[in-house]
Amino acid sequence: MSYSIAIDGPAGAGKSTIAKIVAKKKGYIYVDTGAMYRAVALYFMEAGIDAKEQEKISTNVQNADVTITYENGEQIVWLNGRNVNGLIRTEEVGKMTSAISVNKDVRKKMVELQQALAKKECVVMDGRDIGTCVLPDANVKIYLTASSHVRAIRRFEELQSKGQECDLETIEKDIIDRDYQDMHREISPLRQAEDAMLLDSSDMTIEQVADAILKLC
Ligand code: C5P
Repeated sequence: MSYSIAIDGPAGAGKSTIAKIVAKKKGYIYVDTGAMYRAVALYFMEAGIDAKEQEKISTNVQNADVTITYENGEQIVWLNGRNVNGLIRTEEVGKMTSAISVNKDVRKKMVELQQALAKKECVVMDGRDIGTCVLPDANVKIYLTASSHVRAIRRFEELQSKGQECDLETIEKDIIDRDYQDMHREISPLRQAEDAMLLDSSDMTIEQVADAILKLC
């Protein structure tokens, strides 16, 4: 059996930063499941399909071929044979992703892909439903959170460093809306698994959070 570490939590809690560090230290593969959902959202945006058109989303999700590969430890997301890493990190795609990820056919497809990956390799996987749904038997489960204000500041600084125009208040509002949507959807809502360890990173450094997780492994 492959060893697996599941990290769930709301937007901007630092999941990907921490997961990358833990994966590197352990020599495991880091699977960013949010990026996979984002690629599907990009597919629908480019196809001109609205998030409200749930039936169209269900029938068309089979045309969105999402695969991931690794280059120097970095995850590359391919959408129908195109590397979309540079296109999926915008707030606009983030909002669309939250809206299409309520769809049961989208979720089914993503969960199957993620489970197949974790069967083959030792993984650190981050997302919203990893400990509760994708890998219920994960060896280590973490629920990583932080206050919405701290998370908004982190996202603001991340976007600014990439030269993307942004506004802190709008980001905090988007984060609160997205969390609400992710926590209140019918299928696999974001919640802490009963056997997950809760980590609030509001007043912790990246190293402290990574060390706390590595101690559990
Ligand atoms: O983690 P990230 O912010 O990239 O995720 C984008 C969106 O994808 C989330 O807000 C959530 O709606 C969706 N998602 C999900 N299940 C996952 C990972 C992400 O529903 N396992």
